[in-house]
Amino acid sequence: MAIDISGILSCENKEVVEQVQVGYQSFSSELGDFPIMKAKPFALRISNFENKRILISGQAKLTVSIPCGRCLADVLTEISFQIDRELHITEDGIKDEDLEEAAYLNGVYLDADRLIYEEILVNWPMNVLCKDNCKGICKVCGQNLNRGDCDCQKTEPDPRMAAIQDIFNQYKEV
Ligand SMILES: [Zn+2]
Ligand SMILES: [Zn+2]
Repeated sequence: MAIDISGILSCENKEVVEQVQVGYQSFSSELGDFPIMKAKPFALRISNFENKRILISGQAKLTVSIPCGRCLADVLTEISFQIDRELHITEDGIKDEDLEEAAYLNGVYLDADRLIYEEILVNWPMNVLCKDNCKGICKVCGQNLNRGDCDCQKTEPDPRMAAIQDIFNQYKEV
């Protein structure tokens, strides 16, 4: 979704609120493609501050389907973020905080999809699990161990670990 901000740029202290909707069905990053299951439109406030700065703010929440890090089951994960950007109006055009071209701005068009994409990326949850005690999948047969044990041979305890355990037990006895 592209928002024409020329009217805001040309009018000191003008402020508009746009209803913004995420413009894609799935979020793609180098981690993969993740379907967006729920995304309500949200209010994006764009204001001209004394013809010096453009302030962009809003609060958004969406639900993305992300595979569990252990068993790969789909986990509906809520990602919420606060947009809080500031653009500087300079003689060379509109620049971001670092006085660089903002990637989400094409001339006088604010690319809301790009802006939202950047926010989702930095707010991406680490280590998504279907539940804290997810048992994962069996490395031998691929069975989801949350649904029950498989018939694969359970690995024998490592003899070195057993030796360390023995030492601990000796100390306990003293
Ligand atoms: Zn899991
Ligand atoms: Zn197995």
